[in-house]
Amino acid sequence: MLGEERCAGCGAMILGAELGCQAVWDEISIMIYTHPAYAASHDLAFDAYCMQHPEKYGRSAKSYAAHLTRLCCGIEYQADPGVYAIIRQWLDGKVPLEKPALLRERGQLTVLEVYAASDAAEFRQRVQAWAENVWQAYHEQQALARQWIELASLLYGQNRVSSRRR
Ligand SMILES: [Zn+2]
Repeated sequence: MLGEERCAGCGAMILGAELGCQAVWDEISIMIYTHPAYAASHDLAFDAYCMQHPEKYGRSAKSYAAHLTRLCCGIEYQADPGVYAIIRQWLDGKVPLEKPALLRERGQLTVLEVYAASDAAEFRQRVQAWAENVWQAYHEQQALARQWIELASLLYGQNRVSSRRR
């Protein structure tokens, strides 16, 4: 399309670059909040979006760690609410964290694929594929994300840790 530019965060070709990309995400957010059938995909979609735009959503070490570990939870822990909860508890405290270097490659799929979904079922599928693609792009930082979740689990997930040992 005439005037399309590349979003510096996710690489999407879109009118208005980063601002255009943010506008697409804002529309998706509104859809998620106004249509219950879309709501289940919210966490996964938001964390995927944030990890493709860490300049804006992962400025502090804490916010970066939050979205990276939550994306890990969404993919590797089947979005277990208990794991999201211990991540939140862990980050509510004073956490000594070092933010890893930003990656340049953040996946080939973008918010545009998700935006093009024609119904809720397709939306869910596309969010899943998008988030998996972003998670793959973060392979260098996957071990770190798992370590952080293990740490959070040791600190705040007694039941969970012991039930796993059984
Ligand atoms: Zn973008």
